[in-house]
Parts: sequence; structure tokens; C-alpha cells
Amino acid sequence: MSNDIKSNATPAAPAANFLRNQIDADLAAGTYARPDLPNVITRFPPEPNGYLHIGHAKSICVNFGLARDYAGLCHMRFDDTNPEKEEQEYVDTILDSVKWLGFSWEKEVAGNKQTHLYYASDYFDKLYEMAEYLITAGHAYVDSQSAADMAANRGNFGEAGKNSPFRDRSPAESLDLFRRMKAGEFKDGEHIVRAKIDMASPNMNMRDPAIYRIRHAHHHRTGDKWCIYPMYDYTHPLSDAMENITHSICTLEFQDHRPFYDWVIERCAEGGFFKKPVPHQYEFARLNLTYIITSKRKLRQLVEEAIVDGWDDPRMPTLVGMRRRGYTPEAIQLMAERTGVTKSDGWIDYSVLEGCLREDLDPKAPRATAVLRPLKLIIDNFPEGEPVECTSPVHPHFPERGNRVFPISKELWIEQEDFMEVPSKGYFRLFPGNKVRLRYGYVVECTGCDKDADGNVIAVHCTYFADSKSGTEGSANYKVKGNIHWVSAPHALEAEVRLFDRLFTDPQPDSGGKDFKLALNPASKEVVTAYLEPGLSATMPEDVYQFERHGYFVADRVDSVKGKPVFNRVVTLKDSWGK
Ligand code: ATP
Ligand code: MG
Repeated sequence: MSNDIKSNATPAAPAANFLRNQIDADLAAGTYARPDLPNVITRFPPEPNGYLHIGHAKSICVNFGLARDYAGLCHMRFDDTNPEKEEQEYVDTILDSVKWLGFSWEKEVAGNKQTHLYYASDYFDKLYEMAEYLITAGHAYVDSQSAADMAANRGNFGEAGKNSPFRDRSPAESLDLFRRMKAGEFKDGEHIVRAKIDMASPNMNMRDPAIYRIRHAHHHRTGDKWCIYPMYDYTHPLSDAMENITHSICTLEFQDHRPFYDWVIERCAEGGFFKKPVPHQYEFARLNLTYIITSKRKLRQLVEEAIVDGWDDPRMPTLVGMRRRGYTPEAIQLMAERTGVTKSDGWIDYSVLEGCLREDLDPKAPRATAVLRPLKLIIDNFPEGEPVECTSPVHPHFPERGNRVFPISKELWIEQEDFMEVPSKGYFRLFPGNKVRLRYGYVVECTGCDKDADGNVIAVHCTYFADSKSGTEGSANYKVKGNIHWVSAPHALEAEVRLFDRLFTDPQPDSGGKDFKLALNPASKEVVTAYLEPGLSATMPEDVYQFERHGYFVADRVDSVKGKPVFNRVVTLKDSWGK
């Protein structure tokens, strides 16, 4: 895998890629020209054993995106052949996340709604029937070796495997054993059904791969009906074929599985189970984003060891986490498009996703003022108890969205960093003797500060120029370099704001067997009590704003309520990571 980090990818309209080229060629050749079915049918086939993450989003965007662009169909299918690891909870969250990303497995055809939601477990009867056929036709057999012998006889990359002593069992004997496996006569692992291919194949996946195993386990959909379960590599191609998938798209690690994919479909087609044309598998490079981990096992570890606050922690790369953080489906789709579809693995810098996010949020997000690290500013010559209205645009580029109105008064909150008692070189904000503009308000001149017994600044004093108000004629007479934001203290809305940052400090936290827990960013979450402009009291969960000078913030969809918002920082205004 190359370590080449791509950054600042340039936007491109649906770019040509090898998958589109393949589909174009198939359409031109009429490969899948069938009167009763679309000529392009893809599928997204997760295993319901965890939460979807940003890597899955890539696959969703590729599969549903191709179906959309070619007026085809994308099937939503659960590859639920592993009874022990799968649960309904995961089915529900996966469906939710796919919908949230903006895709649908439902389609209107001539006024009727078709639902293309499938479960491999719905095919268990059919898959069983096909396995009986393969055994009868001499293409599969029941192996009764111990697991240890089977592993030892598999050989390795440089060395051919050895045929199982049970390989030449008669089809009748294998069939009898298979039926008794199904009837529950044997314990887990006692027998297994294997395809009869070639124990000397240079491709390990062709050395008589297992197709059925015994598992006395409860399945979340079929209950206790079965005690034998089909293997993933057997189920997947046959499910594709049963659903008339045309282009079965997966990630590169499945390349070596393709010969078996073709083999099993071909054998079953010979047996009359499928008509040609049959599906074909294509592999593309998985999405590897820097600064995150996507292994389900490691993500589970973050949750179980309480390193994060659950699967939907806004720092998690899960889609539930990213949604809560304020990532939008549009930004994720844009990232998926921009990072393209290739055949070689590489890394995409996380800033590419953040760039897509800013691009999506900038035109959408209304502007607002928030003081995150408050310091009191007192305008000594401002009339007590006589607030004055200030206005500013909801969005500077869209005047038609109107104005926001908020008061200025004698006591304000400003950011601590907007005052320095002794200014550093090039500092233009508040320091004694310096003038700044209070954004959308007046020009003030700093006169000094109050300190506590330990010498900490607790309030800043200034005087204002009554004829300098923004938007009035007098304002032009004042030329100041600094422009700071503020909120009127008696009117401000107090709110919890969660300042999230990247969870890891290492761009490849778990590559090369590294311990990702050593790369945790200690500053990935900071919670502050902030003061917001009063109009934000109407915020509803999932509303997004740009807090001027700070970044984009979303009202937390779990903890925020009307009148008492809790905000998450989605992303800062500029990419300042590591700078
Ligand atoms: P596991 O590690 O448990 O196998 P998985 O991440 O492969 O998990 P699946 O449910 O098997 O999860 O994946 C569903 C689909 O998502 C598969 O087609 C898989 O190839 C695709 N996918 C998973 N991760 C990525 C990724 N990083 N980039 C692109 N596609 C991905
Ligand atoms: Mg997988």
C-alpha cells in the first residue's frame, strides 16, 4: 500500500472511472439487455454485525450512485450468514444510515412502489438446495477431517495442499451426511461441506473452500430453524445471481475470491438455477482516510473501554457519529465523488473530507455570534440600561435571507484572546490605548483592565464613540485594524459547546500493527460554557450555524432541546490542523 497522501482533490463532475467504463461497455454490447430488468443492478451488502462507517459510505455512494446515474437499481442486502455476530439492532442502524446518506432501495415503477431490501437469510432454503445439487453433481463433498487436519492439509502459498481422505466419498454418502447435518445429528465442526475444486491451486481460495458448516446457533431472523449455515464466499455470489445483479462491486481484498465467485455461479447455472448473463465481480480500492480507524474490532474497543462516549460519539468515524458531529450527507457524497474509484490502494488526507464539509456548509449555514472563552468588556461611557439594536446579515452572500438583530449594551462578553494587556508584535485587537471595531456595533478604545488577587484579567474597560456605529455615516470616519465579535452580557444565551477535534494525532493510527491507543489526541473534546447571541434560543436539534471567526457548529441531535441548545463544533473555518 502506498503512503502517498492525496490532498485538495479538485472537484470533478461524475468522473470517468473503470467501473463507469465497464458499464458503458456492457451497455454498448448489450451484455445485460433484458426486457424485464434494468441493465444495471448493483447492491450494497453489509453484514449486520456493527455500525456503518465512512468506508462503507464510500461503497454506498459508489453502488447507489452508479444505479442512480445509469437509471438502474441498487439492492440493499444484508449478508447475514453469521448467526453469532449479527443482531437486529445493527440491521436498523444500517438502514437508517443508508437513508440518511440520501439513498433509497425503493423505486416507483408504473405507480407501484418496489422495495429492494433483501436478506441472505431469506435464501437459506435455495442455498441449501443448490448445495445438494453441487454434492449430487460431484462438485462438492462432505469432509469429516478435524479442523486441525483440514488446516494442515491446506498447504500454504509455496506448497500444494493435500486431498482430504474424504474427498472421494460418493455423492450419495455426502448427500446423506449433509441431510443429517441439517437434521441436527452432529455437533459443531464435526463435518463440513466443501467445494471440490483443486487442492493444488496457487489460489488458496480455490483449495476446496468450505461452503456449509454446522453451527448450533440462534439466528436473528431465522431463529432455530437451521443448525447449518452457508459460508460467506458461497452465499455472496449466489445471492448476487438470484437477485440478477449485473455489476457486483467490492473492495480489492476480494480479488482472490473472484475465481470462486465465478466457479460457484457457473456450476449452479449448469444445474439450471440461473440463466445467463450472470453477475460479474469488480474490485476497487477501499477508502483509507488518515486520522481515523475503521476496523470494527478497534472501534468496538473505543466504545467498550469508554475512550469515546458510544458508537455515536461525534468523534467516531461511524455514520451515526458523523451525523451527530454535523457532517452532512452532501459533504460525504462529495468526498466519495472527489476521491474517485481506483484500482490501487492509497491514503486520502482527512482534510479532503473537511474541505467538502466546509464547501457544503458555507452557503447553507446562517451566521451567528458565539463567545467561547468569555471575558467581560465594560463600556464605561455607555448609558446604563439602554441597549441599542444592531443588525447583521443572516448570510453575507445571500442578502435575501434577511438580517439578524441583537442588542449592544454597557456590558459585553468578548473572547479572552481578543485582549492583551501587553500586546505582542502585530496584535491589533484590544490593548490599552488601542481602538477596535465591535463587529456590527461601535468603535471602542481600550482604557485598561481589572485583575483578581492572582493577577488574572477579569474585566476589560473601554469607552465607545457614539457616532461610529456600523451602517451609519459616522462609521467611515473611524479606521481601525481590529474587528472583534461580542455578545451583550445581560442578553446572552448561555450554552454548552463541545469543541471536538480529531481523535488521533497520528495520520495512520493503526497501520503496521501500531497501538492506536498511543496516538489518542488528549484534546479531542473540550466542553465550554459559551455565550451566544440571543436569537439562537430558537435553535432546533441538528440546526447548523457558522459561529463567526470560529467555525461550523451543529445543535446536538441527542442533548440539544429548544431553548437550551448544546452545540458541537463540526469543523473550524480553516484547516489549522498541525499548523
Ligand atoms: P468486516 O471487517 O466485519 O468484514 P467490513 O467493514 O468489511 O467489515 P461489511 O459489512 O462486510 O463490513 O462491508 C459492507 C461493504 O462495505 C462491503 O462491500 C465492503 O467491501 C464495503 N467497505 C467496507 N469498508 C470499506 C472502505 N473502507 N472503502 C470502501 N468500501 C468499504
Ligand atoms: Mg466484510
